[in-house]
Amino acid sequence: MAVIEIEGLKKEYRRLRGGSTIAVDGLDLAVPEGGVFGFLGPNGAGKTTTVRCLLGLISPTSGITRLLGVDTQTDIEKVINRVGSIVETPSLFPGFSGRKNLELLGALQGISRARVAETLAQVGLADRADHRVKTYSLGMRQRLGIGAALLKDPEVLILDEPANGLDPAGIKEIRELLRALGKEGRTVFVSSHILSEVRQMCDHVAILARGQLIVSGAVEDVLHERSGGGFVVKLSELDRGLQVLQGAGMEAAIDGGAISVKLPADRASSITETLADQGLYLSELRPLEADLETVFLELTQDPAAPLPTEDEPTETPSAGTNA
Ligand code: ATP
Repeated sequence: MAVIEIEGLKKEYRRLRGGSTIAVDGLDLAVPEGGVFGFLGPNGAGKTTTVRCLLGLISPTSGITRLLGVDTQTDIEKVINRVGSIVETPSLFPGFSGRKNLELLGALQGISRARVAETLAQVGLADRADHRVKTYSLGMRQRLGIGAALLKDPEVLILDEPANGLDPAGIKEIRELLRALGKEGRTVFVSSHILSEVRQMCDHVAILARGQLIVSGAVEDVLHERSGGGFVVKLSELDRGLQVLQGAGMEAAIDGGAISVKLPADRASSITETLADQGLYLSELRPLEADLETVFLELTQDPAAPLPTEDEPTETPSAGTNA
């Protein structure tokens, strides 16, 4: 059973003065158990709307959303204790310490102080736990927010853009934390438009554009299917290497400090052999992979589509912190 199941999800926001925006348009998604699942899409693609529907914070126009097998539109209370989430920046009291903040939140949920201490350690804040939140970096605040979502020790963690607004050091902290949580066997569902992070952080990825699923699968598969169909070859004598490979009939070119060779994936050994025959030994040979940014642009670009516009909000979504 998939931990998160979305079938035919559609959400249409009606505007006050007529017309409507279809934010999610027939989305099907299955998120397997364990690991980090990246839900990627450009701004306005419908990620937040999907997450809100999934957590039962807003009602979809049609479609089914299930968490751990439970319909979240009708029975969210049956799973809410097994799911932690951050849909918006969690509201923390800046004048209180990280520990105090979590203890206050925990008190509402019957969480012990020992569990709060454990959670602070889990998110790497044990040694700063008694400092005021206003002295924390953004990354630390975000980790504290994730700590708040972890208090119940949930099996599933749903985070909307957790790395948003963070500097590279903060992004790295979040990435490492989420990866560790996924390795423990939790299912971490994280929406993002930060493509470079996905590869290092996520095991699976789904790409959303204009409310529709474009592609979904293991990160390597999504990238591999669109790999450049070639190899990157590094060796000290670049020019000679190029001549030798071209002399053997291969389509090769110098690209930066390496040679790129167009060749099917199962022909790597012919590169090694051809070079070795001429006394050339390579220092690196790897498949030429399309980077996610390129894949993402290719997949989500629709020249016929108008640029997304800001629509007049007609529904005020309920506060969505720490479901
Ligand atoms: P972002 O990363 O910018 O938050 P997103 O992928 O999360 O983007 P959504 O916030 O789900 O996308 O928005 C999808 C579309 O629905 C956008 O066109 C947005 O303007 C519209 N939309 C979102 N919320 C509302 C609302 N409450 N009322 C009307 N339209 C809305």
